[in-house]
Amino acid sequence: MSLSPISDALHALRAGTPVIVIDDELRESEGSVVLAAETATTETLASMGHWMGGLIGLPVCPQHAAVLQLTPTSPSLAPAAGADAEIRAEALRAIAATDSALEHRPWYLVPLIAAEGGVTARAGHTEATVDLLKLAGLTPVGALAELVARDGQTLRPDELLALSDERDWPIVSIADLVAYRRQHATDGSEPAPRPRRVSLRAEATVPTNHGTFRFLAFKDHVTGMDHLAIVSGELSDTALVRVHSECLTGEAFGSQKCECGPQLDAALQAINDAGGVVIYMRGHEGRGIGLINKLRAYSLQEMGLDTLDANLALGLPADARDYGAAAAMLQDLGVQNVRLLTNNSNKVAQLTDLGLTVVEQVPLVVGVGPNNHVYLETKRDRMGHIIADGRLEAAMAATPPSTDAE
Ligand SMILES: [Zn+2]
Repeated sequence: MSLSPISDALHALRAGTPVIVIDDELRESEGSVVLAAETATTETLASMGHWMGGLIGLPVCPQHAAVLQLTPTSPSLAPAAGADAEIRAEALRAIAATDSALEHRPWYLVPLIAAEGGVTARAGHTEATVDLLKLAGLTPVGALAELVARDGQTLRPDELLALSDERDWPIVSIADLVAYRRQHATDGSEPAPRPRRVSLRAEATVPTNHGTFRFLAFKDHVTGMDHLAIVSGELSDTALVRVHSECLTGEAFGSQKCECGPQLDAALQAINDAGGVVIYMRGHEGRGIGLINKLRAYSLQEMGLDTLDANLALGLPADARDYGAAAAMLQDLGVQNVRLLTNNSNKVAQLTDLGLTVVEQVPLVVGVGPNNHVYLETKRDRMGHIIADGRLEAAMAATPPSTDAE
């Protein structure tokens, strides 16, 4: 039997997946299950089922506990009925997002203040939780529950392994975490807590013309933009994904200068049919050059330049889009392997560089009309887009002539 590497646990915690922590060697260890409070969702808490049925430990580092004015004996609200998974997940996320004194703490959360220095000072499950969260670059506020069977008996080693296997929760030991921290401290490679690129701020169900989707709004900490993840169904191991760049003219106004509107429609339809996610990237207007420069480039195109040369004539890059936030959102959603709906090979390369595995490139040729076929031909011939021979011509032939051509 083997435990998971610490790096697997860090990746899981960032993705909102619980991690099983044991003391040392499996045969004589008790196990607990830990989670980053900021990633707590109703689904995760529900999947943690009876492990968190009663009280939940709330491990925090000493500095964060001071900010929250949280002590092991902080007064709590009186127990109330109805603390279900949704309420608990909300409370955990709210506490992780708080940077001032907590006005009150829910009765089912038990503050656990980690020792200064973490597992190198005290090899406990509280310290392990806080250390793992810090190494993952997450807010050092966790959720922790002891793993016991429904009859209250400690889980046996084979049961811990079976649980890890069944749920796909990594299982790590505190002994390995101590070794990991020592090794990274002595060779100077302890990774500085990496600021997170995005964080989930809101989610709601939205019915659309293409079906009913879960809309998740993320804040991009680098650009300040709000991006959307539009999800249908359960996200599978090899999720169908469209990373779509905002295009006001094409999507809101039905501009026929580009195919963004029909592409978004087709992507939403495909995601609704097959399940998956559309990552909608704000701030990508005009392949990242902005609305004003996009219209300037259109103006040059009226004088005969193609879409690539118009950008270059303005001293702008052909493509200024950065997909870092898209990759971070997919990682937060637990999506690693993607079947990417795109004609753009460069997008495949960028997302691959950002750590995603693109297992398939699924072409998306729609919305071809007399006003944009030259634009599409340029993208195919000069910008590495994959559009199968004959598809452009076939799609053009199938498109009725535009009635409101510019
Ligand atoms: Zn467009």
